[in-house]
Amino acid sequence: MAIDTLISEAQIQERIDDLAKQIEQDYQGKDLVVICVLNGAFIFCADLIRRVKNPIYVDFMKASSYGDSTVSSGNLKVDLDLKVDIENKHILLVEDIVDTGLTLTNILERLGKRKPASIKLASLLYKEARNIHPVNIDYLGFAIDDLFVIGYGLDYAGKYRELPYIGVYREDS
Ligand code: 5GP
Repeated sequence: MAIDTLISEAQIQERIDDLAKQIEQDYQGKDLVVICVLNGAFIFCADLIRRVKNPIYVDFMKASSYGDSTVSSGNLKVDLDLKVDIENKHILLVEDIVDTGLTLTNILERLGKRKPASIKLASLLYKEARNIHPVNIDYLGFAIDDLFVIGYGLDYAGKYRELPYIGVYREDS
């Protein structure tokens, strides 16, 4: 196998600076609840929230639709739900990647029923070509081609999350 760099560490960090500034301005004077969608978003979320200077309450949700395969199963399973009551709160959902949009569509529908004051989405990556379940990404890092990517929180069978850059995984060498 081989890993080709798609987005460098410097590019990611620069983009996160911009997103954080935008979020800081948009939530000026509002209490913000950030929901980190585990597992993949943990590194993006950690870097993002440390740059946003507004007061933030952080909670976590875990949902999976992929397993160990590079092909989506089309099923969403919620393994960990929120502890916080989000009614009348301003919610920012932080996700690693929007591929088909299935995961986010399900999560947004679930959270919408709990009557938050507002709900926005930040995603580091978005596979434009897929877009099977359209979701509106309010704060987007990068639009990418339809490639299986790893690194910066994203895994292949639980590995490579620690890479500081986004790479493209190739089975061949
Ligand atoms: P969706 O429901 O949008 O099709 O898929 C979203 C989830 O699938 C992401 O949160 C992520 O866990 C996983 N996923 C989608 N594309 C990729 C990819 O290219 N690489 C990795 N590692 N995971 C992906």
